[in-house]
Amino acid sequence: CGIVGYIGHREAYPIVLKGLQRLEYRGYDSAGIVLYDDEKEEIKLTKTKGKVADLKAKLEDEINTAGTIGLGHTRWATHGVPNDVNSHPHFSNSGDLVIIHNGIIENYESLKKELIKRGYSFTSDTDTEVLINLIEDVKKKEDVKLGKAVQIALNQTVGAYAIAVFDKNKPNEIVVARLGSPLAIGVGEDEYFIASDASPFIEFTNNAIYLEDGEMAVVRRKKGVSVRQIKDDKLVDPYIQELQL
Ligand code: GLU
Repeated sequence: CGIVGYIGHREAYPIVLKGLQRLEYRGYDSAGIVLYDDEKEEIKLTKTKGKVADLKAKLEDEINTAGTIGLGHTRWATHGVPNDVNSHPHFSNSGDLVIIHNGIIENYESLKKELIKRGYSFTSDTDTEVLINLIEDVKKKEDVKLGKAVQIALNQTVGAYAIAVFDKNKPNEIVVARLGSPLAIGVGEDEYFIASDASPFIEFTNNAIYLEDGEMAVVRRKKGVSVRQIKDDKLVDPYIQELQL
């Protein structure tokens, strides 16, 4: 299983797709990509059970793979059988927020019950769809920015994760977080890469920030990366490591 993301000035699709191919060695049963076309203000989600090659075939039937922000996922199913619906990315109920997740949200059942009481509905059997709706609920209830909403929501979860989230109404940032699953941020010039390991972005940049367990980051298109501890809300000075090519 693996995650990939891109935000910058290039077309995200080829970078994300190739990134997923580089992460195939990690094993998976399904794959998906979400792209946001900033010009047409259109979000495009394509996902499928099967291989990245199947996803590529599906995507190449599409007319529009434009967009400078994108997320890609390979899934190793833990909650819900491998099928198209359970594949990632997952949207929140409003359709505004989108997530990719590797790991397990152990207390997803009780969170899901609460969310159903609050009017949320679910199309998949995954723990991940619970998390993205929890983030949406917090964001609305507390009237906070996406980064804060992700932080508050994660502090209500038990489990393990590497996640990446963005809001289609604010497609200038991606929020990422990790606990127990790896997550690296490639730092380019006015562009950023997100991945389970550096292999998807090594051809573009050799500067990387490896998030520590319990850290999250807001990755902004032109303004850089801010890292903080999820629990203590303490800002962390990110250490940019130079990768050996
Ligand atoms: N628990 C999530 C699911 O079953 C993510 C699995 C993964 O790590 O790929 O959809």
